[in-house]
Amino acid sequence: MFVMSDHAVLRVALPLPLPRLFDYRAPPGVVVDAGWIGCRVRVPFGKQQRVGVVADLGPAQIDPNSLKYVIERLDDTALLTGELWHSLQWAARYYQAPLGEMLATALPNALANGAEPADTRVFGWQLSEAGHTALAGMRAGAPKRLAGLLQAGPRAHIQLDQDLPGWRSAARALAARGLAQAVELSAEPPVTAEQGPLLHREQAQAVAAVIDALGSFKPILLEGVTGSGKTEVYLEAIRACLGRGQQALVLVPEIGLTPQTLQRFRRRLGVPVLAFHSGLSDGERAAAWLRMARSQAQVLVGTRSAVFAPLPAAGLIVVDEEHDGSYKQHEGVRYHARDLALVRGKQLGIPVLLGSATPALETLAHARAGRYRYLRLSHRAGNAKPPQVRVIDIRKRPLDAGLSRQMIDAISACLGRGEQALVFKNRRGYAPVLICHDCGWRAQCRHCDAMLTVHERGRRLLCHHCGARQSAPPACPDCASLALQAQGAGTERIEDALIAQFPEATVLRVDRQSTRGRDGLQRLLDTLGDRPGILVGTQMLAKGHDLPKLTLVAVVGVDEGLFSADFRAPERLAQLLIQVSGRAGRAQRPGEVLLQTHHPDHPLLLALLGGGYRAFADSELSEREAAGFPPFAHLALLRAEATTQEAVNVFFAEAKALALTLRAAVPEARAGLALHGPIPAPMARRAGQVRAQLLLSAEQRPLRQALLARWVPALYELPSARRVRWSIDVDPIDLY
Ligand code: ADP
Ligand code: ZN
Ligand code: ZN
Repeated sequence: MFVMSDHAVLRVALPLPLPRLFDYRAPPGVVVDAGWIGCRVRVPFGKQQRVGVVADLGPAQIDPNSLKYVIERLDDTALLTGELWHSLQWAARYYQAPLGEMLATALPNALANGAEPADTRVFGWQLSEAGHTALAGMRAGAPKRLAGLLQAGPRAHIQLDQDLPGWRSAARALAARGLAQAVELSAEPPVTAEQGPLLHREQAQAVAAVIDALGSFKPILLEGVTGSGKTEVYLEAIRACLGRGQQALVLVPEIGLTPQTLQRFRRRLGVPVLAFHSGLSDGERAAAWLRMARSQAQVLVGTRSAVFAPLPAAGLIVVDEEHDGSYKQHEGVRYHARDLALVRGKQLGIPVLLGSATPALETLAHARAGRYRYLRLSHRAGNAKPPQVRVIDIRKRPLDAGLSRQMIDAISACLGRGEQALVFKNRRGYAPVLICHDCGWRAQCRHCDAMLTVHERGRRLLCHHCGARQSAPPACPDCASLALQAQGAGTERIEDALIAQFPEATVLRVDRQSTRGRDGLQRLLDTLGDRPGILVGTQMLAKGHDLPKLTLVAVVGVDEGLFSADFRAPERLAQLLIQVSGRAGRAQRPGEVLLQTHHPDHPLLLALLGGGYRAFADSELSEREAAGFPPFAHLALLRAEATTQEAVNVFFAEAKALALTLRAAVPEARAGLALHGPIPAPMARRAGQVRAQLLLSAEQRPLRQALLARWVPALYELPSARRVRWSIDVDPIDLY
């Protein structure tokens, strides 16, 4: 028989698609104690090695002598502790993800892969006494400029990088003469913060409300049109946090994290502001994460995964554009950063400030029910006026690449005034389809149930779903006719039409292709500057960048969005229209928005035009309630795909039978939990895979969670689950 203490075994969370922990022994002679929990370890797994996190200690369930040893303990003290550790365990349960996968999602890559926690101490330079004395008599040049900067106090390397590029040789010159020396700093010393504008009344009230909430959990919705000054409210509230020695986390949508945004935060807060986004290297992301963990930095601005930043001295979490779709992770662990921000805020006992011009309907419902504090900024800051919105009925009107005469005239007038116009079309490429005018053949993707999009003025065909690309055929593959036509218009074709119409004007196309690389969009916009011109683009242009000369927004393609089957499509379209309209007239000049449509009487457009987003939200919330969709129901979507229909069918048959059995065991669940499907996914075949889905809908969230907690672990055990790729999406935002 074996004899071991009760806590002899390390239970390790590994990033594997298996809903359990894995038991290991500590290396021989090493004591197992609670200090292991939250530390990373390297362990053998099959023939390989893996990095995991010790999640628990416990008695061995099998002969411990048969367990393998941990190869290496990677952290002396726990990397994951306190609130973050609890929130991540909670999130793993909520999203039905294996803890190891949740942790691998939350940790910066470098740390998840086992990298040593980097030294994040801050080094800098300071002037010696001799340096202070010598400054006045120094010759002009880089050393003198550096000495001038250091006169006010020590400066960190990264501050010097910003203020005086090439400072290093100047520092060496000063050091050689004993005028300056390198020092270790506890953190970057603050610099003088720039003064912000005088807040208007609503802003001041909002700031006061947030400051009042500091120190306890409170969700706050700040609803304010684009340009109403929400960012100023964030900045003032964060300053209050800094004054209390606390940290602030700011989440921004993927597209909103521009160098300008960071600059604005840095200048106005006067403290280092860390960035966290996909454009950084693994090392940079890990360093930012560690500096927050070590309280070496107070402010972090980042995209979705920044929601996992450690906040040992938490004061406030801000989620800007809280309705934005980029907060939802669409693969792996399908978490929602806004929802997790609220969960963390509650654990941390701090306010969570959600800002938007077009709040998600879920958020709005909470605010209206009084569960969230509801603050509003009802008008634009400064002198900016709201734009005038006009609908152009294009039924029976001639169109040129989808543009009506009225649209062209309005653009012409705008250019004539020396201003800029934005033509918005949510479809990239040249045209959405290639058809044969003689026999009706259409170019379809071989791997997907989807049309190929025409690109490069008709030369190439591209599938937007699987990425397949090919040259356009010279003749119809069915009837050999040469009458192949690109039908409809994407941004490329609109660009061509505008260049033909306005040969003198600068026309810039803004989409994923034309803005590749870091800061690609900003570089492209910089080429236009303040000159009159036209921007043609997809939703990339809907937000983020201040374009003071932009006075006309021409929306060309709304009709596709009006008739989508997805329950969230109207909300998304309304948000997009409001956001894109918000681009017009941000500065002194009034803006104008033109909406071109074949459906001027569509209820969505009438509601939006008549009463704005609020009126739209009222009617949409009633529709959701009637149809039993969120926020009036709580959904989970089981998706699966495989190369054969049969594999998909068998998996769903077994999965559904299992769910029905589990539901039958809970009396109150029989009425409150519905299963819809399985049905083919809206795109039933993608990249050669057959796809289907099963929707679980619950009146009460706890009921859904109770079922998921039994159902999902059992799915892993199904033999048919091995023949498909399946995933569970808790609170899906799209049903495809
Ligand atoms: P939002 O975040 O709501 O889009 P911002 O905070 O970016 O709005 O403000 C929009 C513009 O108005 C910015 O240029 C900002 O400097 C300016 N602004 C904001 N508040 C004020 C104010 N109280 N007085 C003058 N200008 C302001
Ligand atoms: Zn043909
Ligand atoms: Zn395809």
